[in-house]
Amino acid sequence: MQLIDSFGRVHTDLRVSLTDRCSLRCTYCMPEQMTWLKPETLLTAAEIERLVGVAVALGITRVRLTGGEPLMRRDLLDIVAGISHLPGPPDLAMTTNGIGLERMARPLAEAGLRRINVSLDTTDPDTFLRITRRNRLDDVLAGLDAVAEAGLNPIKINAVLQRGVNDAEAADLLAFAIDRGFELRFIEQMPLDAAKSWTREVIVPASEIIAELGRTHRLTPVDGRGHAPAARWLVDSGPAVVGIIAAVTEPFCSACDRVRLTADGYLRNCLFSLEEQDLRTPLRSGATDDDLAEIFIECVSHKKAGHEIGQRDFRQPARPMSAIGG
Ligand code: SAM
Repeated sequence: MQLIDSFGRVHTDLRVSLTDRCSLRCTYCMPEQMTWLKPETLLTAAEIERLVGVAVALGITRVRLTGGEPLMRRDLLDIVAGISHLPGPPDLAMTTNGIGLERMARPLAEAGLRRINVSLDTTDPDTFLRITRRNRLDDVLAGLDAVAEAGLNPIKINAVLQRGVNDAEAADLLAFAIDRGFELRFIEQMPLDAAKSWTREVIVPASEIIAELGRTHRLTPVDGRGHAPAARWLVDSGPAVVGIIAAVTEPFCSACDRVRLTADGYLRNCLFSLEEQDLRTPLRSGATDDDLAEIFIECVSHKKAGHEIGQRDFRQPARPMSAIGG
């Protein structure tokens, strides 16, 4: 059995949000004050493991833990160990802001985590505070050192550039990443902020980032993108590579193979979907694995051709990025 939509896209990538809580308050993601999901609605480690197992039996081969901030889950190591011990275990990765990684990097690697993306939009402490509303740059940098020491590979850096905030930092971020052997990926800012204040003007488009980096580096496109969200370029003949996820200006929906599970147990076939399928209620009322698999199949079958950002009738989803899982 496969998770296949009406456009023939086969889904092999599951993003699992572990919590809507976060240790930062990035302005493009979360407001200072949030109404959190009720604790009893959050899937337990055992429930997550069971749902991921159902998804793996349906052809999911890659799982990425995200949030909110996954490191805020006290049972994170149980979740990682549980998923990595599933039969035919998926390639297990995590996206994190890095706060707490200094302590957790090695135990996570030992529990079965294979790859990691750490979000870092700036290496300047004042700009970090402005973007995240928290003075935690040193914690993130210590976390990055720790994952490198723990042997996780590759280590990717996710950076969102905002007009007038950190748009002059593309080259500095690339130098930082190259210096440490990390792969940098820029993400165009998407309309997923809780304040719903996104406009096209805030984003720094891929074309501008490439032009800026091209002033100091020779960038050669890397072929064979497949289903990856990031287009990649070799920097100065390599081995360094830089990627850009141009979800707004150069959407890649036709190759999308991703499905998302929220921390409270809803399945979404797109970041921008206005509908979600409830898995938690059946899960907690005796559904069999076949029943749950049916919900996965049904959800993916209704996936739209694309996210429709920029079209007249585009509507931002009710949940912000932090509650969907980025
Ligand atoms: N807390 C973790 C972290 O910071 O990586 C995981 C969750 S966070 C939502 C995942 C990624 O989504 C981060 O790299 C973050 O920068 C990105 N992100 C959040 N809101 C975004 C938005 N509106 N547009 C583009 N990327 C966004």
